[in-house]
Amino acid sequence: MIQSTLSTDLITSDILPVLSKSKVARHTYLDNRVTKSQRENRRTRSQRARERLQTKEHLSRLAVGLGEVELADKLERCHSRLSVLTCGRHIARIIPNFTCEFRLCPDCGRRRSRKLQSKYLPAMRGFMLHRKVTPVHLVLTQTHRKENRKQSAKRIKDSFTRLQRRGFWKEYFKGGTWSLEFTKDKNGLHHTHLHIIGFRRKFFDIELLRGEWLAATGDSHVLNLKPIKDIAAGLREVVKYVSKPLDIRRFGAADLKEFLGLKNMRMFGTFGEFRDFCKSFVPSDNNDAMSELESLSRDLVEGCACPQCSAPLFDLRLSKSELPQFYEQIESSPPGKVGTSWN
Ligand SMILES: [Zn+2]
Ligand SMILES: [Zn+2]
Repeated sequence: MIQSTLSTDLITSDILPVLSKSKVARHTYLDNRVTKSQRENRRTRSQRARERLQTKEHLSRLAVGLGEVELADKLERCHSRLSVLTCGRHIARIIPNFTCEFRLCPDCGRRRSRKLQSKYLPAMRGFMLHRKVTPVHLVLTQTHRKENRKQSAKRIKDSFTRLQRRGFWKEYFKGGTWSLEFTKDKNGLHHTHLHIIGFRRKFFDIELLRGEWLAATGDSHVLNLKPIKDIAAGLREVVKYVSKPLDIRRFGAADLKEFLGLKNMRMFGTFGEFRDFCKSFVPSDNNDAMSELESLSRDLVEGCACPQCSAPLFDLRLSKSELPQFYEQIESSPPGKVGTSWN
C-alpha cells in the first residue's frame, strides 16, 4: 500500500484564478449555453475537482453567515476524506467518508446525476426501440418578470403542463424527461429554463412549436430544439442541471436563503407516455454499458487489476484538497491513456 505524500499547500494558492472566468454576458442565454458547455468540456478533471472544492467552501461560508451551522458542517464533512482505488494512473473508484446530500453540493450532485443516468438510460433506449420515436433536446424559456425563484419555476412548469394538453404536442410527442435550470441576470431577474428530452414521433415545423409555446405561456415563443444523436450524451447533458441547477459562484447569502426555502421542489421528472413506460420497465441486465461499468467497479478491491491498464489497484487515502492535485499528477504523467469513466 502506497501512502499519499501530497501536500495541500499548492492547492489553495491555485484556487483563486479559476474563479474569475465567468465574465461572459448572460443575457443571450441560448448562445452562452453552448460556449459555457464547450468551456466546461475543455477544463481538466483537476480543474473541475478544484472548482467543486471552491463551490463547497463558498456555500459553507454562506451557510455560516446565515446561521445554518448544521448545513455548513455537513458541507465541510462531505467528501472530506476519500478512499481512492487507483493504479496510480487511473482511478477505478472513489469512496467518500460522508455525503451531505445537499442539493447544491457539487459532489453529491454528481453522484445523483450518475444515478439518474443509470436509472433512465436503459428505459430511454427501450422506449425508443418499442415506440419508434427519436429524441430531441428542447429548451423552453419564458419572459423575465419580477418574481422569486419559486414563482418563476411554477410559472414555467404550469406553461409546460398547458403545452402538453394541446393537440399539437400530443400529435408529435410521446413524453420524455424535464429538468429545471435557474440563472439570474445582473439585474437580479430570474431566468428559469426547462430542459426537455422529448421523444418525437415525426418531424414538424419548428415555427409551429414556437406558436404553441406562445399559446401556452401567453408571452414567450423563445425555445431551442436540437436532435439528440447519442441518447447517453443527451441524457448526461440534461441531468447536468440536476447536479448544477444554478451558477453557485454568482450566488449570495440571499440566494442560498431562498434556495433553502425550495426544499421540496422537484428539479427533474418524467412525463407523458415515457413516464408510464418507466413504471413498468424492467431493464435487462445484459446490455447496458453504464451499469456494467458500475457493477464492475463496485466489485473491485485492492489488488485487483485496473480495468483500463491491468496494473494492480491500491487504496489511496486522500483529503478533499489532495484530490485535485492527484488528478493533476495523473494528467501530467507521461504517456498513456488517462481513464475517463469517473469524469
Ligand atoms: Zn455533498
Ligand atoms: Zn490503470
